[in-house]
Amino acid sequence: MRRETLDEADFVIVGTGAGGATAARVLAAAGHSLVMLEEGARLRTSERPRDAAGALAQAMRDGGTQVAFGSAPMPLLQGRCVGGSTAINSGIIWRMPEDVVEDWTTRFGLGALVAPELTEPIYDRIEQELEITPTGEDVLGGNGHAMARGAQALGLPGQPMRRNAGRCRGSGECLQGCPGERRQSMDVSYVPRALADGARLHTHARVERVLIERGRAVGVRGVRLDPSTGRPRARFEVRARRGVILSAGVIHTPLILLRSRVAGPVGRHFQCHPGSALLGRFDEPIRMSFGATQGYEVPMRERGYKLESLSLPPEMLAARIPGTGAEWQERIASLDHYAQWAAQSRFEAQGRVRLGFGGAPWVRYEPSARDIEQLKEGLVWLARMMFEAGAREVYPGIHHVPEVLRGPDEVRLLEQAQISRADLHLMASHLFGTARAGADPVRSVVGPTLEAHSTRALYVMDASVFPTNLGVNPQHSIMAVVWRAAAQLAAQDSGRVARAG
Ligand SMILES: Cc1cc2nc3c(=O)[nH]c(=O)nc-3n(C[C@H](O)[C@H](O)[C@H](O)COP(=O)(O)OP(=O)(O)OC[C@H]3O[C@@H](n4cnc5c(N)ncnc54)[C@H](O)[C@@H]3O)c2cc1C
Ligand code: SF4
Repeated sequence: MRRETLDEADFVIVGTGAGGATAARVLAAAGHSLVMLEEGARLRTSERPRDAAGALAQAMRDGGTQVAFGSAPMPLLQGRCVGGSTAINSGIIWRMPEDVVEDWTTRFGLGALVAPELTEPIYDRIEQELEITPTGEDVLGGNGHAMARGAQALGLPGQPMRRNAGRCRGSGECLQGCPGERRQSMDVSYVPRALADGARLHTHARVERVLIERGRAVGVRGVRLDPSTGRPRARFEVRARRGVILSAGVIHTPLILLRSRVAGPVGRHFQCHPGSALLGRFDEPIRMSFGATQGYEVPMRERGYKLESLSLPPEMLAARIPGTGAEWQERIASLDHYAQWAAQSRFEAQGRVRLGFGGAPWVRYEPSARDIEQLKEGLVWLARMMFEAGAREVYPGIHHVPEVLRGPDEVRLLEQAQISRADLHLMASHLFGTARAGADPVRSVVGPTLEAHSTRALYVMDASVFPTNLGVNPQHSIMAVVWRAAAQLAAQDSGRVARAG
């Protein structure tokens, strides 16, 4: 294969998701030369397929088929394009909860990274730059309004979600890319901003390892992929004069570290917020095709979960409708009458990411019995809320539970069911850990500045540095933590206070 020296800069950033794009935004604004390397393509919203299968194939890692293995496989959703997972997410915004800040400070020595007096101005700045506001009543849609009704009837603490989509028009297509670029994902916000400040971006550039000389990171090596076939086309190297920043996400950052033989608990402590969803059939039209993809939430964090409205494209919805023959035909004929709500749960289980066959990731993850019980409790609340909101039928989609619940009295069939991991359809899109940050070099991979304990000038700036999961949607916390570390790096490296801070 051909070998080329692709580029050279002060900093090389690998990955352009929540972490990588934020690092680029801060370092470029501070006047550093930098190169962003992204394995996926730069997708213009106008060119993205509107159907779910096409959208998943184009923008998601392995077309949405990446899984963690355990007693049952669990899909792990990640974006693989410029903007990373933010290019396909729903734009939900939460600051890091206070108890997490406290825990990271006391148990992991990360006060210098997450102390509120340091991060609050950063959250404020990001909120202003990314147009973060509560979802408007006019774009809650039938799915969000029905959830609000259910929550109010049961006295649960519901609210419209805060999202980075102040100009949302409720097209329900966040997964497919926001038409008109109303949602401020990284591909339409911090990546273009960094490019305007002089950064360079190379797409279809898959980084495989960090070049380390005398204990210091000096660049990266990888392969250029053919944009049409995805096959390797040429080997490349990019040299970094001041530092290498890995932001390839929770599954791929540890693989690059493992190939580069970076020391520490790399790949360990993988955590996530697995989720599962219920469908409800209503007499009146719900019309999931209109409204914010996700607009309403019931945070029950003290119980370990968060309940969210989650609209589905019609082809995915159809695949979830139970029954056969005439019964199924009758149900599918009222496709506009369904609502879908999900429970995302803060599981205690920890897994591990390893280098598997041919260099591909091998993720092992097994939820605990307590995790399953906790998620079930969230699903029970969802079923109750659906009936309170007026649902005629609820479809839990859980083995060993009737596939149709026909009224509030039948929710006890879900409540009383003995459910194991294999009975549930779980998936996770909030991933954490695998290169955790901490003051102790034995228990962590990077320190409080996010520089690797074992390798100078090597930084990790993405969700893999999170030593624990959060119990809330993570992108805002990732951006704030990375902003803090990148601003420190910019200031320290140039010997002046960063303009970006
Ligand atoms: C469907 C979905 C919905 C979500 N909804 C929300 C939400 O509403 N709110 C919220 O807070 N969070 C949400 N999340 C989670 C959130 O988007 C992620 O937690 C966040 O984007 C993770 O940031 P990151 O920088 O760690 O990784 P990512 O954003 O995943 O970025 C990693 C980037 O690295 C690239 N990359 C990987 N390997 C390589 C390599 N070897 N070489 C070069 N490039 C590489 C990838 O292609 C990708 O672009 C959602 C996630 C998904 C998948
Ligand atoms: S619902 Fe539609 S308009 Fe609103 S942010 Fe998502 S894709 Fe954009």
